Amino acid sequence: MNTRYEILFEPVQIGPVVAPNRFYQVPHASGMTEANPRVRAAFRGTKAEGGWGVVSTGAVSTHPSSDDSPLPFARLWDENDVRSHALSCEAIHEHGALAAIELWHGGGAVMNRTSRIAPYSPSGIPWAATHVGFMGNLRPRIMDKKDIRDVIDWQVAAALRAKRAGFDIVYIYAGMGYLGYQFLLEEYNHRTDEYGGSVKNRVRFVNELIEATKDAVGDTCAVALRISLEELRRKKSPHYESEAHEVVSLMSDTPDLWDVKMDSSPTDCGASRFRPEGAHEAVIDFVKQVTQKPVVGVGRFTSPDTMVSQIKRGVLDLIGGARPSIADPFLPNKIKEGREDEIRECIGCNICISSWHDGVPVRCTQNATAGEEWRRNWHPEKFSKADSEDKVLIIGGGPAGLEAGLIAARRGYEVTIADKNSELGGRLLYESKLPGLSNWARVQDYRLYALRQMANVNLYPESELGVDDILGLEHQRIAIATGANWTRALYSSLEIPKGQMNQENVYTPDDLAAGIVPEGPILVYDFDNYYLGGVIAEALAREGKEVSYATPAGHASAWTIMTNEQPFIHQTLDKFNIEITTQALLNSFDGSRAVLSNIFTAKQVDQAANSIVIVGLRLPNDGLYHELMKHTDDFDSAGIKSIDRVGDVLAPGALVHAVHSGHQYARDLDQGNASLYLRDIPIAEHPPSEII
Ligand code: ADP
Ligand code: SF4
Repeated sequence: MNTRYEILFEPVQIGPVVAPNRFYQVPHASGMTEANPRVRAAFRGTKAEGGWGVVSTGAVSTHPSSDDSPLPFARLWDENDVRSHALSCEAIHEHGALAAIELWHGGGAVMNRTSRIAPYSPSGIPWAATHVGFMGNLRPRIMDKKDIRDVIDWQVAAALRAKRAGFDIVYIYAGMGYLGYQFLLEEYNHRTDEYGGSVKNRVRFVNELIEATKDAVGDTCAVALRISLEELRRKKSPHYESEAHEVVSLMSDTPDLWDVKMDSSPTDCGASRFRPEGAHEAVIDFVKQVTQKPVVGVGRFTSPDTMVSQIKRGVLDLIGGARPSIADPFLPNKIKEGREDEIRECIGCNICISSWHDGVPVRCTQNATAGEEWRRNWHPEKFSKADSEDKVLIIGGGPAGLEAGLIAARRGYEVTIADKNSELGGRLLYESKLPGLSNWARVQDYRLYALRQMANVNLYPESELGVDDILGLEHQRIAIATGANWTRALYSSLEIPKGQMNQENVYTPDDLAAGIVPEGPILVYDFDNYYLGGVIAEALAREGKEVSYATPAGHASAWTIMTNEQPFIHQTLDKFNIEITTQALLNSFDGSRAVLSNIFTAKQVDQAANSIVIVGLRLPNDGLYHELMKHTDDFDSAGIKSIDRVGDVLAPGALVHAVHSGHQYARDLDQGNASLYLRDIPIAEHPPSEII
């Protein structure tokens, strides 16, 4: 280990327990519930194995009145849930780490869609979501004194269950719009009793939750407070620098640990496109000066030097990691072993967060094994040995080809990767140079760095391969990873394909990647709905072009609401004076004007445009594959045993799909039906519980 980093491996006392080092996997959503307890245990246990000293659950509901369905939230409501979480504790303890549980009551921010219990809130004010996916139409009840006592009793009951399950650290949650947070903020808390009004009164509910939890389990478990400080820090306080200072001062040594964060998912888990590493510091930097208790915070930390600096400058005691721990569960061990160059750094794309919004277990662009540890038996650092002497030829060095090559090489196969481009990286060579996306280059940088260290790997840029080359190269396993092409296809108002717009000056992202500079004014027409349309519009505007943006969706880059980017994309387009037209179909283009029509009313508008960039449908670049498959009779004599398509050439998708596809290909080589996965089932040792 580099001696500079030794400080990261010091133990830290947290109440009655000791964290073995300063690496703290803070609570983060995993989309893994009591429906998949083994998947969850293996996911969390792998992080403990990788050196995280504390490993936490995501939010765990204390009671059915905190019901976030259809989002995939976890519960600790009865003995089956205790057993289910115990599996995670056992997996975490096996590697000497502490297990933490984020007990959670959503209050007026949840809709209790399954339990149908009227949601709880201090003053009847709900979270007002502006996106349809998160909207609901039930407004919360106003809690009376009995409701307050009930919520505290449920927290205590859940804390006792958590202790039985084996947890070492038990949380009170007062962040991100949930119940404790609603009591803290005057906008949500209009109460005139002892729980409302002054900051001292608004803190009372959270304080009581902490005290009651400490009384119940504090002899053996640490009691942590997770709190959002962004909005409180903006508020003036007569006797303190801000209300955030006042709140932390009033409770300063009550919890055993302060876990401090921002208020909303887009600012707390900011995408790298808009938030750098360590972006929380400006909000949470004061906490350590106000408390004697240890402080943990996040900031998408992947650089050990930044981590050391956070500790030495007195900002944090424990380095919190959510996304960095998903992208590389072995980040701490790599630092400990002097292998920090091998860290698979999070790129800040927030696909992991989109998994939660999609209602499924976590997926990660950088780490294809996330969520696959148990069901597919994929370990991030261990690979089964190659079962043959076969040589693997991969055609295409994009994310899919690089991942396939790396994993096959780690298994011990001799691997050749050929790409027609002068550099390897595929679509990322262009995309990671677009505004805000430089961190995304980590996808190819991590893989190329690793591949270049290996003696059984040959990398051939500037090598466009055709059928004869492939038949003559004496490789037994052929992976075609030639990617996909953007098309000029359009769709009708019924969302039915309606042919291509093939005239001059109509371009796709592939044309821009090849160096074409469209003549302005330029209309970017986007029904891909992910990042690329918006970021291309931004890039063209930054180059001084007059740009407009249109989409059939209701928002610019509409799907990026899933990755927490959408509000900032909208702000950015606005900043560059890019006119946004939503609900728009592209009807025609005469070289100087595009005609758009409203998708619902068919009302037409003209848009000045000398060029159009269509960011819409991608189709596989599979010509080589099909050409090759015409020569199946020659495969035996060429020694070819298998030909597979990997990544976008099989099914065009986001980077996360390409990397997973490449990984799966290499894991499955010589393994028969290995791509099948085990289906997890809930634990049901006890009879169904009564919900009161
Ligand atoms: P994916 O996301 O599936 O990895 P990409 O489009 O990012 O797909 O990468 C595909 C890569 O395949 C590109 O780098 C491209 O240059 C390369 N490629 C396409 N056809 C050939 C070919 N015939 N020979 C070599 N490389 C090719
Ligand atoms: Fe990081 Fe993206 Fe992986 Fe999330 S999905 S952990 S943001 S690389």
